[in-house]
Amino acid sequence: MTSVEPRVVVVGGGPVGLSAALLLSRRGIPCTVLEQDAQPGTHPKARGIRTRTMELLTQWGIADEVRREALPAEASRFIYCDSLVGAEVARSPQVEAGERASLASDCRLAQNALHSILLKHVTALPRVNYRPGVGVAHVKSNDDGVVLDCQDGSSVCADYVIAADGVASTVRSELGIEFDGDAVLGYGQSVFWRGDLHRWVHDRLCIQFITGDRTGHPANIASVDGRHYWVTMVMQPGTVERPTPPTQAEARDIIRHAVGEQIEPEILDIATWRISALVARQWRVGRVFLAGDAAHSFPPTGGFGMNTGIQDVHNLVWKLALVMGGAAGDALLDTYEHERKQIAESNAAWSRANGVRFRSISRAIANGDDADLARLIEDQRHHVDATDQDLGFGYAKGAFLLDTSDLVGSALTTALPGHRFPECRLRSATGATVSSVQTFDDGFYIVATEPLIWRHPAFQAVQRFGLPIEILGVISGADQPDPLGGHDAAIVRPDGIVAWIGNLGARSADEVLEVVLSSVLS
Ligand SMILES: Cc1cc2nc3c(=O)[nH]c(=O)nc-3n(C[C@H](O)[C@H](O)[C@H](O)COP(=O)(O)OP(=O)(O)OC[C@H]3O[C@@H](n4cnc5c(N)ncnc54)[C@H](O)[C@@H]3O)c2cc1C
Repeated sequence: MTSVEPRVVVVGGGPVGLSAALLLSRRGIPCTVLEQDAQPGTHPKARGIRTRTMELLTQWGIADEVRREALPAEASRFIYCDSLVGAEVARSPQVEAGERASLASDCRLAQNALHSILLKHVTALPRVNYRPGVGVAHVKSNDDGVVLDCQDGSSVCADYVIAADGVASTVRSELGIEFDGDAVLGYGQSVFWRGDLHRWVHDRLCIQFITGDRTGHPANIASVDGRHYWVTMVMQPGTVERPTPPTQAEARDIIRHAVGEQIEPEILDIATWRISALVARQWRVGRVFLAGDAAHSFPPTGGFGMNTGIQDVHNLVWKLALVMGGAAGDALLDTYEHERKQIAESNAAWSRANGVRFRSISRAIANGDDADLARLIEDQRHHVDATDQDLGFGYAKGAFLLDTSDLVGSALTTALPGHRFPECRLRSATGATVSSVQTFDDGFYIVATEPLIWRHPAFQAVQRFGLPIEILGVISGADQPDPLGGHDAAIVRPDGIVAWIGNLGARSADEVLEVVLSSVLS
C-alpha cells in the first residue's frame, strides 16, 4: 500500500492525540486525526500541567496562552478543612523554588481548557486533517501499512498509526494487547458544577479543598477556574463494584456538605471513573503505537496521566519522522516502548503512593491524631514536590549510549545518558546565550567545552546522516554548575534527551559522532 496522504493517522483527539498531530505537523508529516466524538467533552479531569509539559508547550508557542488562563502559582497546594466555611485543619507543605531546574514552571489549568487551546492551534496547522465524529471500529495492520475501518463504514489507510484513543482504546483491544497492573483500585465520582465560592476562597486558592474527614462527609472541592467552576469529588478507594452515579439531588447535597452552606449549585456533569494503575504490555505492534491513556492509566493522585501521554508522543514523533524520512532504521521505533513503558510504570507507582498518603492523612484527621497528622503532612512534600519525577526521570534502556562509568550527580544539573539534558545557559554558534532546554527541538545537538573541534565532524555527519546538527558551547562560571560534569562533550537528541556524554580520549570527534549517531539511529 502506498499512500500520499495521510502518512500517519492519529486515533483519538484528546490532549495526547492533538499533541501528536501538532508534533507531526511541525516535522512536516501529514496526518489525519480521527476523533469519535463530534464535540469535545467538557468535564475538566486533569487540572495540572507539569513543568516538563510546559517546557514543550513553550517550544510549541502556546505556553503563554495556557498561563493566561491558569490559576495562580500559590494554588498548587491542598487545604484540609471541615468544609469551606468550617475550620481549616492543615495545608500541604509549601515547596521552596530552590535551584531552578527549569525556566518553565508547572501550571494549574483544567484539561478541557488546555484541550480547547490545543484544538484551536492544531486545526489551524497545515498538514493536519482533524475529523471529529469519526470513530475507529477495526484495525488491520501488515508490513506495508495499516487500514482503519471506521464506525461510519469508511476506511482510512496510513503508513503508521498512533493510538491515542484513551483508556478503553479500541485499537489496543483490536491488537489484543493486555494491560498489566491493577484494573480496579477503587472508584471516583466527580460532579462538575457552577457556583460562586469567591467569598470563601479568594484569599486561599488551592488546587483542592479536602473536606469532611472529621464530619463524616468526605468530599474534595477542586478548583477549575477558582471562582465559578468546580469539581466536587468523592473518592471510594477499595470499592470494586462500580457505584451508581449520584442523582442531581444527591450531588447538590454532597456539594452543600463540602461547602458548609445551603448554596444552589448548577450541576453541569456527573462522571464515575475507575481508579486503576495499568500499563500496556506492548506499546508497538508493527506500524501501530499506543500512547497516553491507551498505553497507561494512573490513579489521579499524581497528576501524571495526561502529562505522561503528551511526553509519550514527544518521544515517538521525532523517531517516526527520522524513520519515515530514511535517516534512521526501523529499530529506532522499538526504543519508544523501551523508554516510555518504564516511565509509565514509575509514574503509576508514584501516583499510587500519593493515594496512600491522602488516605493516611484523612485517617489521622478523622482520628484527631495531631502528631501523626503533622508527620504525614510533612511527608506529603514528596508528592507536592514532583521535580525528580517530572524532570529527573531517566531511561534505563533505549536510544542512547552508556559510554563511561564516571558519571555522578543529579540529572537536574548534570547531563546523564537517557535523561533530559539539564536547563542551563549555552553559547550558540552565533555567540548568543541560549537556554539548553528551549534550544533542543529539531535536530541533534553537540554540547562541548571546545566547540571548534566538532565543526568539521558535525558537517560530515550532516552529509552522511541527513540530519540537522547544531554545536553549542558550555558557559562555565560560578553561577551555573558545569552541565557536562567535567566531560568533553554531550550529544543530545531532538527530544532533549542525552544520547551520549564522555571524553574523547584517544578517539577523534569524527569517530565518536559516527558511533553515537549510528547507534542511536539504528
Ligand atoms: C479526576 C481526574 C483527575 C485527573 N488529573 C490529572 C492531572 O492532574 N494531570 C494529568 O496529567 N492527568 C490527570 N488525569 C488523567 C487525564 O485526564 C488523562 O490521562 C488524559 O485524559 C489522557 O489523555 P488521552 O488523550 O490519552 O486520552 P483521552 O483524554 O481519554 O482522549 C481519548 C480520545 O479518543 C477518543 N476515542 C476513543 N475511542 C475512539 C475511537 N475508537 N475512535 C476515535 N476516537 C476515539 C475519545 O473520544 C477521546 O477524545 C486525571 C483524570 C481524572 C479522571
